[in-house]
Amino acid sequence: MFRIAGIILAGAVFLAGCTTSNQPSQTAPLNWSLPNAAPQPVQAPPVKPPAPVVQSNAPPSVVVAPAPVTTWDALKVWAAAHNIGAPHRLASAPLLTYAIGSSNGVMVLGIGSLAATWNGVEIHLGFDPQFIDGDVFLHDLDLQKNLEPLLCEPPLTFGTNRVIVIDPGHGGANTGTRSVLDGRFEKEFTLDWARRMAPLLETNGWQVFLTRTNDTDVSLSNRVAFANAHHAALFISLHFNSAAPGETQHGLETYCLTPEGLPSTLTRGFPDIWSLRFPNNDFDARNLQLAVRLHTALLCATNMEDRGVRRARFLGVLRGQDRPAVLIEAGYLSNPAEARRIEDPAWREKLAEAVAAALK
Ligand SMILES: [Zn+2]
Repeated sequence: MFRIAGIILAGAVFLAGCTTSNQPSQTAPLNWSLPNAAPQPVQAPPVKPPAPVVQSNAPPSVVVAPAPVTTWDALKVWAAAHNIGAPHRLASAPLLTYAIGSSNGVMVLGIGSLAATWNGVEIHLGFDPQFIDGDVFLHDLDLQKNLEPLLCEPPLTFGTNRVIVIDPGHGGANTGTRSVLDGRFEKEFTLDWARRMAPLLETNGWQVFLTRTNDTDVSLSNRVAFANAHHAALFISLHFNSAAPGETQHGLETYCLTPEGLPSTLTRGFPDIWSLRFPNNDFDARNLQLAVRLHTALLCATNMEDRGVRRARFLGVLRGQDRPAVLIEAGYLSNPAEARRIEDPAWREKLAEAVAAALK
């Protein structure tokens, strides 16, 4: 169901997108890519704004802080206040779908769907858009944290600080997940991807530091400290995914930290306390812009299945970062076809080239 909006718009704008250009708490997982069941988005029940929905939107096991005052706004009113054109209806069935655009690009929203698209690439909202008395309503925080950075703010640029830290996930005894084909470990592939990326980024003017250059385990908190010590302008953590023992799930996911007040796309069973704010939340807008930039480039280069730009709050390697930071899950080692690609050095070179090209 969540994919419908993306499918509808894919033909219209996907090509345009392609041609442009831990230790924060005891709850943080030691191993981000432990085999796990397919992540499920948190579903918002249909509600009529402005009723507060924060409590009812949370899974029952999640600890939720006292509900903040929540408000919903008519999208057309918000658009007018931001000097962009009013949303217009794209489709009525099977999903009621609206598009809203600016000179930056086009966002497509499906009523009742947490999945939206930005220039044809899937992004995940905190609350599903509602259709009330003939108008589209969005949660204020989605407007502030998801629509505004993409539709209204200047696109991501890089200043004079050209230091980037690339973080090959896992290492040493922390093996990450493993290939369904032959048991090779994620840690090997993330390191190779990073090593291929470094000279390409240097060619583009970046000074590159890797959190590890060999098969050693580095704690999540030390990966954050490493980026601080190097005064990095950007931080990118590299991973490959798993849905073992399932073998069918496949595709690309790019994560950035959940903004304060919004539910996460993925919790992996960790408490998702919406009221928490982390240092990296200072970069909410640029986190999203960076995630979208990298996600789009990787999709265009590889034609992987688009599983979306997603939000998570439990990722210790991201939330303490004092800079825009994202985590990429570039395919599933539990899927035989994707594992075969990931094991191919030429494929990893392609992944490296895509990231480097996105940061030119
Ligand atoms: Zn991993």
